[in-house]
Amino acid sequence: MEPRIQKLQDEFKKQFGDDRDTRLFRAPGRVNLIGEHTDYNEGFVLPAAIDRSILALARPRKDKQVRIYSLDFKNLFEFSLDKIKPVKDSWGNYPMGVAKVLEGEKFKLKGFEAVFQSNVPVGAGLSSSAAIELVNAFIFDAFSELKLDRVKMALLCQKAENEFVGVQCGIMDQFIIALGEKDRALFLDCRDLSYRLVPVPSEKVKLVITNTKVKRSLAGSEYNQRREECNEGVKLLKKNLPKIKSLRDVTPENLVEHQDTLPEIVRKRCTHVVMENDRVTRAVEALTHNNLREFGKLMVESHNSLRDLYQVSCPELDLLVKNALALKGVLGSRMTGAGFGGCTVSLVEEKAVDEFRIKSSRAYRKDTGKVPEFYVCQISDGVGEIK
Ligand code: ADP
Ligand code: MG
Repeated sequence: MEPRIQKLQDEFKKQFGDDRDTRLFRAPGRVNLIGEHTDYNEGFVLPAAIDRSILALARPRKDKQVRIYSLDFKNLFEFSLDKIKPVKDSWGNYPMGVAKVLEGEKFKLKGFEAVFQSNVPVGAGLSSSAAIELVNAFIFDAFSELKLDRVKMALLCQKAENEFVGVQCGIMDQFIIALGEKDRALFLDCRDLSYRLVPVPSEKVKLVITNTKVKRSLAGSEYNQRREECNEGVKLLKKNLPKIKSLRDVTPENLVEHQDTLPEIVRKRCTHVVMENDRVTRAVEALTHNNLREFGKLMVESHNSLRDLYQVSCPELDLLVKNALALKGVLGSRMTGAGFGGCTVSLVEEKAVDEFRIKSSRAYRKDTGKVPEFYVCQISDGVGEIK
């Protein structure tokens, strides 16, 4: 952390003269351990905040100006809280969006100046976007004394991304970054936002995230299509199950009984969602009993289902998972995030991590010509101030 803080201080002085009265804030990236494509079906997810983060060194201003410098983008962005308008293709839309929704809640905001520095890879599916939203929300909250609770903060950041940036994300990313805790995964019910923190034993195992480096070009259109197919499934299943509102309400038994009423593609999609919800509850159960082997098995089942039934994987993700599972000390591995690229997450015994990196890197390079990136992570706290 120290070299990062030094860099922030140096840049802050360069941009804003001196670094007196500054405060340090942090928002982590996140990884979803299991429960993929269940969020928009009002189902269950199990994300965790990771020890990669965006840091912000910040100081309040007396006026309504926000002046922010991103060390990663080497760019100073400036706006007035009185005149917030989206700018095409700018990272400034995330902080501005947060300011806009807070103002929409009738909060009186103070301007500030800040320098950001991040080691959450951008566009890899670890949610650098929600991290930058939450760190800005937290800064406004601290400097303008808004006293927002964390659930509300997450909801407002999601709103900023949906309405101001124009990305139709669910609530999971903002929620885990707002409410995550060290060494705990967060079991979230996406229907009513009830949640429970579940301890993940951290002494002997690590989460290893592997970046395929594949651009997720298909992700947008395919994502919308999956959502439609799920809606179609609900519509058809309703004929026999009139009480259901979403796939969340369909049990595995229900599905077996009525699957013949669904066209093949819709049946596959529904089977993934219904069984994935079931897997999340079983995964939480496994963690509760400290049964990491069972947890790992469920991760693999989840991957296979995303590959074969939901059809959102890609050859690179499949290759990483297959190679990972052939190595010793690997308890489980799966694609994480929306799919068509991005990352896998693997549960690896600590003593096997080095070999995991070397061997999976070699195999992946040989077969794809691409160099994967590894992030060996621990589960960390959500957004906060570092004192
Ligand atoms: P991700 O999967 O990482 O969330 P997104 O495309 O959703 O990818 O969000 C990435 C965007 O978030 C970047 O293009 C940029 O606008 C913003 N962002 C992320 N990290 C930073 C940073 N360190 N500095 C400035 N902007 C950032
Ligand atoms: Mg994002």
